Amino acid sequence: MKVRLIIIAAPSGAGKSSFVERICREMPRLCDTVTYTTRAVRAGESEGNPYHFVSKEKFLELREKGFFVEWAVVHENLYGTPYHQLEDAWAQDRVIIMDIDVQGAETFKRKFPDAATIFILPPSIEELRRRVTKRDGRVPADLEIRMKNAEREIAQASHFDFQLVNDDFDKSYQQFKKIVEDLLARG
Ligand code: 5GP
Repeated sequence: MKVRLIIIAAPSGAGKSSFVERICREMPRLCDTVTYTTRAVRAGESEGNPYHFVSKEKFLELREKGFFVEWAVVHENLYGTPYHQLEDAWAQDRVIIMDIDVQGAETFKRKFPDAATIFILPPSIEELRRRVTKRDGRVPADLEIRMKNAEREIAQASHFDFQLVNDDFDKSYQQFKKIVEDLLARG
């Protein structure tokens, strides 16, 4: 069956956004979504990169209007994917690749049973903790929430079509790319 949606989930810090960014650059048929979120902008981020940053009021207003195909509370913030981004991509015969949390992956799989799902695992919880701290340049205020969520998310990995350990970025990325290439070759 032709694949039109590829969902990537992983605990925060496992490297999924780097995988998605790089594969979108290398394979133009793929296209990422830009999620709406209520979380605060981090250093190096700006409106549209990597999210649309909105107030909670705005998010709830959009949600009320049925703007989101899926929304979830992740690490105490709201995240949602707009319908129109999927429709626009499919109208151009492109394949969407998106990184979302485990709850979001479940919702998408329910709404789009033909979606392919990939789970990226960190080599260990300790390594994940180290990466999250390094990425933010300090211990993030919600580190313990993220680590608790990570353990809960990792427990769901076997429900995904593919699992991949990100121990060495380049090696793991090549394995990831091969999975995606095989999926695209289906149709
Ligand atoms: P961060 O704020 O650290 O970039 O992302 C936090 C988490 O939110 C990540 O696991 C990311 O995959 C997830 N996320 C991003 N966009 C969406 C979305 O549209 N829906 C859901 N459910 N999760 C999302």
